[in-house]
Amino acid sequence: GAKFEKPPQTRVFTIANQKGGVGKTTTAVNIAAALATGGLKVLVIDNDPQGNASTALGLEHHAGVPSIYDVMINDVPLNDVIQPCEAVPGLYGAPATIDLSGAEIELVSMVARENRLRNAIRDGVERREREGHERFDYILIDCPPSLGLLTINAFVAAREVMIPIQCEYYALEGLSQLLKNIDLIRGHLNPDLHVSTIVLTMYDKRTNLAREVAAEVREHFPDETLSATIPRSVRVSEAPSYGQTVLTYDAGSTGALAYLEAAKEIAARATSAAQSATAEKENS
Ligand code: ADP
Ligand code: MG
Repeated sequence: GAKFEKPPQTRVFTIANQKGGVGKTTTAVNIAAALATGGLKVLVIDNDPQGNASTALGLEHHAGVPSIYDVMINDVPLNDVIQPCEAVPGLYGAPATIDLSGAEIELVSMVARENRLRNAIRDGVERREREGHERFDYILIDCPPSLGLLTINAFVAAREVMIPIQCEYYALEGLSQLLKNIDLIRGHLNPDLHVSTIVLTMYDKRTNLAREVAAEVREHFPDETLSATIPRSVRVSEAPSYGQTVLTYDAGSTGALAYLEAAKEIAARATSAAQSATAEKENS
């Protein structure tokens, strides 16, 4: 198959949108699987107590399984909770169990409560390097819809934000609030954070509305919006109930091919993303 370019350093994305049901989890797991299919080493961190990403990746995530909760709250090293995804070589997941629903409250009284995930990722990356393991090219963090401490941890841990946008009437509503929150995080907690990628999803090219929304998003975010759009497809929505991503559930489906195209674009931006990061540093 196609080989995607390795980024010069690990790219960490938060998949965010304060609306539920817009395709965050679906986009996180399928972009991750597509990047892995392109020969890259990819980790999905399930940071949502609902555990939908864990289900879709076929990860064990019943109560008691070492999970991202233990990483956030009990200082368990990230590497100790990672599981390989059997179906896709190169794809790994850190599962969320039901415990994570309590973390939002438990975090409130903790020291450096906004930085726990960032520190865990940093320590994990460093340990892998020390122990001579191949590094992750991509880390994708799937978030709950609310802006609580779990999501804030993800915003602090990532450098890039990927926003899935469902091509329907209220799509742009709430987006300005999300962008304001990202600005706040950038100002106070993570100066590197920026929206690098917008994915148009559940796109139905037969409707005028979808085309209009897509055009409007592209007008506002010409550089960030991927050319590839993800079609609404039954195969995409069926895959999680088999513990699979659409990339293995039905590799030839329109959904699988669209996610591969999207991943290819994201990977192709790796070098320019790194270059602009260097340029920013030099200019500041
Ligand atoms: P979120 O994580 O933002 O809450 P999900 O990724 O769980 O959203 O998606 C919400 C619902 O939409 C799920 O039932 C999912 O299977 C379905 N879905 C997502 N993307 C597609 C698509 N491209 N085609 C059809 N159904 C989709
Ligand atoms: Mg979700």
